[in-house]
Amino acid sequence: DTVIRLENVTLILDGHKILDSVSMSFWEGHIHAVVGPNGAGKSTLAHTIMGLPDYLGHTGAIFHRGERIEKLPIDKRARRGITLAWQEPARFQGIGVDSFIRSAAEAKGSSVDSGEMLKLVGLDPDRYLVRNVDKTLSGGERKRIELASIVAMRPDVVLMDEPDSGVDIEAINYIFDVLEKLRNWGSTVILITHSPEVLKRADHSFLLCNGQVVDKGRVERMSGYFTGHCVPCVHKNNPFC
Ligand code: ADP
Ligand code: MG
Ligand code: MG
Repeated sequence: DTVIRLENVTLILDGHKILDSVSMSFWEGHIHAVVGPNGAGKSTLAHTIMGLPDYLGHTGAIFHRGERIEKLPIDKRARRGITLAWQEPARFQGIGVDSFIRSAAEAKGSSVDSGEMLKLVGLDPDRYLVRNVDKTLSGGERKRIELASIVAMRPDVVLMDEPDSGVDIEAINYIFDVLEKLRNWGSTVILITHSPEVLKRADHSFLLCNGQVVDKGRVERMSGYFTGHCVPCVHKNNPFC
């Protein structure tokens, strides 16, 4: 089943076409990777699907489970089960880790054991439940706690912006396990990544360049772009392309 569909989405910011006639379909229970060079528009794509206030002025349509959502504000999309894990997670100064994770589940009308959620992302509950979500956490710890809160929501759609960036190799395996878990629950995962290791975990992938979808298909196909520094839109004259 198609869960999220974009139809000819074009977004102009400051006079520049950041998304250019983007059409994409994301399927239930699948991990879709979105790859592409810096500045390709990957984060913008995630922000547009989530409906952040600065990203509502696009043309084209966005569907969630067959219903148009492009006019809906972010909170309405969140209530539909669409979630975003930020490339640079915001700090919620002073909120306890325990209540941060529990309130994520409560927003969906359920309850969770926040300690169990922390274990899923490889953090020791005894150490972290008593902490606050603030600047005393490292970037990687904050990302993992945010991911724990997203798992607690049992989301329908998860947009993840470079979940591996700033996270140790050891911790990346926990992120992989969480991705599998979300997929098994039937979540649709939209995974923005620069990492060939993360890309390998996806079921299907898109290559974004200059705001356009320039290729899509099997993950092996996209992996080729990481070897030999061959991204078609960037290295047009590279003899290895
Ligand atoms: P990626 O995540 O693929 O590295 P981004 O989506 O962050 O790329 O950015 C795509 C392009 O859009 C970049 O050239 C960036 O400078 C530009 N951009 C992003 N946000 C804005 C904005 N609010 N106003 C103007 N340009 C923006
Ligand atoms: Mg980037
Ligand atoms: Mg980005």
